[in-house]
Amino acid sequence: MKCLRCGNEDEKYFYLDKNVYYCRRCIQFGRLDVGQEPQNKMTYVCKKHRIKPKLKFELTSNQKAASSQLVAYFKEGKDSLVYACCGAGKTEITYEVLTYALNQGLKVGFAISRRQVVLEIASRLQGVFKTIKVVPVCEGYTQIVDGDLIVCTMHQLYRYHKTFNLLIMDEVDAFPFKGSDLLESIARHACVGNRVFLTATPTDEMLESVKKNELKMIKLFVRPHGFPLVLPEIKVRPVSVQIIELIRLVTKTLKNPLLIFVPTIRDAVTLSFFFKVFFPCDALTSKTENKEEIIDKFKKGELKFIFATTVLERGITIEGVDIVVLKSNHPVFDEASLIQIIGRVGRSRAHPTGLGIFYCTKVNEAIRACVSSLKEMNEAL
Ligand SMILES: [Zn+2]
Repeated sequence: MKCLRCGNEDEKYFYLDKNVYYCRRCIQFGRLDVGQEPQNKMTYVCKKHRIKPKLKFELTSNQKAASSQLVAYFKEGKDSLVYACCGAGKTEITYEVLTYALNQGLKVGFAISRRQVVLEIASRLQGVFKTIKVVPVCEGYTQIVDGDLIVCTMHQLYRYHKTFNLLIMDEVDAFPFKGSDLLESIARHACVGNRVFLTATPTDEMLESVKKNELKMIKLFVRPHGFPLVLPEIKVRPVSVQIIELIRLVTKTLKNPLLIFVPTIRDAVTLSFFFKVFFPCDALTSKTENKEEIIDKFKKGELKFIFATTVLERGITIEGVDIVVLKSNHPVFDEASLIQIIGRVGRSRAHPTGLGIFYCTKVNEAIRACVSSLKEMNEAL
């Protein structure tokens, strides 16, 4: 027995109902009986376009080389992994392969873990490819699910059984995709052509596939401005001293917008409660309802700093931001998440450097691994 949607063959997930077995592993996407091919309701006909991406900045020579390589692997029918440091412009280097596929009349998808980023990327791609129909598909955006270029969350891929000739998958190292066998098999079934994975922190399995030559790797460790990645200053202090030093920092030397990462929602809420009495600041967690409003105020400079959980570790770009991580040896911060956090600093051409401090009560493996990965990427410069 095998589920044709999620590929499950494990008997414990099959349930018998009125003489028919169905799969419970992927039941969240609707019931599917064993042997039944998932329906694909997509009817939109992709035509051969003749588009050219419209870019604000010209790509750097490194980005150009990476994007040509990506096209070459796609033409050869190979899956590829773009291993790019934070701020290297990994979305931009997919434009050429997207253009190539769209001009061939192929079906193209762009899948990302988080809903917020789906909307951002969709609007960015629509700006770059003005004449095609770019469709964002995520919670709250499921009225129209088909078009020339579908940008969706990993979850929504279940709608696209055997659909894409080219499927770009961004943030494959992030929750909820990372470690989810179900989402991985849904994604595999959505693609009939080749996949391109984008990440700043490839998993061991991916690197293993590269070694076995099942996956082609393209490295891009240089940011467009050419400056090295900012290395964190590691400060080993008891928690109370971390807070005292933070108070000193925000009262005396605060020049740039500051993101303060904390491990738990409780930390974020409590700290912002006390700091709010003296400073314009706020907390931002997965439970915060007016996220956009807070980020907007922060970008405008109305808030000097924000206490955030890892909900803000990815995707967000704030001009000239500095970062501090409190209790950075807490298990919630793994290597990938620390790399993402420090990756917020020094992204733009106007602010290619900045400040990043990891406070911890002791240096753990995740901190050590983060620093050594960053150094390795900088050595490649
Ligand atoms: Zn299934």
